[in-house]
Amino acid sequence: MIDRYGRYVNGLRISVTENCNFNCFYCHREGCPESSREMSPDEIGSIVKIASELGVGKIKITGGEPLLRDDIVDIVAASAKPGIREISMTTNGALLSERAHELAEAGLDRVNISLDTLDAEKFAKITQNGSLEEVLDGINAALEARLVPIKLNMVLLKGINEDEIDRMIDFAGERGMILQLIELVDLNGEDFQEHHLALEEIERKLAAKAIAVRTRRLMQSRKRYLLPNGEVEVVRPMHNTRFCAHCHRLRLTPDGYLKPCLMRNDNLVDILSWVRAGDVDGAKKSFVEAVGRREPYFKRTEKCPHAL
Ligand code: SAM
Ligand code: SF4
Repeated sequence: MIDRYGRYVNGLRISVTENCNFNCFYCHREGCPESSREMSPDEIGSIVKIASELGVGKIKITGGEPLLRDDIVDIVAASAKPGIREISMTTNGALLSERAHELAEAGLDRVNISLDTLDAEKFAKITQNGSLEEVLDGINAALEARLVPIKLNMVLLKGINEDEIDRMIDFAGERGMILQLIELVDLNGEDFQEHHLALEEIERKLAAKAIAVRTRRLMQSRKRYLLPNGEVEVVRPMHNTRFCAHCHRLRLTPDGYLKPCLMRNDNLVDILSWVRAGDVDGAKKSFVEAVGRREPYFKRTEKCPHAL
């Protein structure tokens, strides 16, 4: 599947629930609107099968918090279809210690675990009730279950955690994990103004310390810095035309709509109704329609040299 801008689609990011056991103050919940429908594991499996037939090779399971679904192991198993090369999950990790091994057995290849701070008090403030200890147990369980390479997702928050970057690089590096520094995305207004941190200066410091720097063209043109004490990847979605130019994923909302862009909800395409009606051709056409509706959210402006 190739869109009007020449970007092919090889990844599907499936949000399996909008519920969460944390309440991170900045959270965009993958930009999914609230709804009453929820996809079953079999329905997710049917959509993944069609996606793989259309050239999708990577599945990312996310949420809300995906581990809140009692049937999450069945969802992973249902996603393990021929042609799917990698199934990964983004989780807050709080429930991971109970489930890491059975998820690995069901076919989960690796996890991203969100961790913005190693300070228990700050952690409780950011998540508005989360326990840092549970997440650290989850990380250990994921390492034991070989859900690797593990990426730690750290959203950078001005005035809260920018002083912890070095500590986080050490923490991740000592355990063989990759640290992803994520720019805060603006989906909820006021907090963005207060806590958004531009990552240019941080990237400059990383570049100065790096042994090598790689640009991951297939992953939204992210830069990966190999440092003496660990690996750091930088995710800069805001106002970044290169991020959009190298976006190769579609999203699926928990209620079964294909979502062409994280930042928009006005161009969703219903696929679950076709799956429920047993109409595979209709479901395939939904993919074609969703890919047709893809367009870069951040496009070229006079100031920006990175044209699409
Ligand atoms: N609950 C899971 C978790 O926290 O990993 C999965 C869902 S969460 C929405 C997925 C990722 O989005 C997390 O790494 C989280 O830190 C990140 N995220 C949420 N809101 C964000 C925002 N406004 N800007 C940047 N990243 C955000
Ligand atoms: Fe959002 Fe994930 Fe935090 Fe839940 S744990 S509030 S889904 S970022």
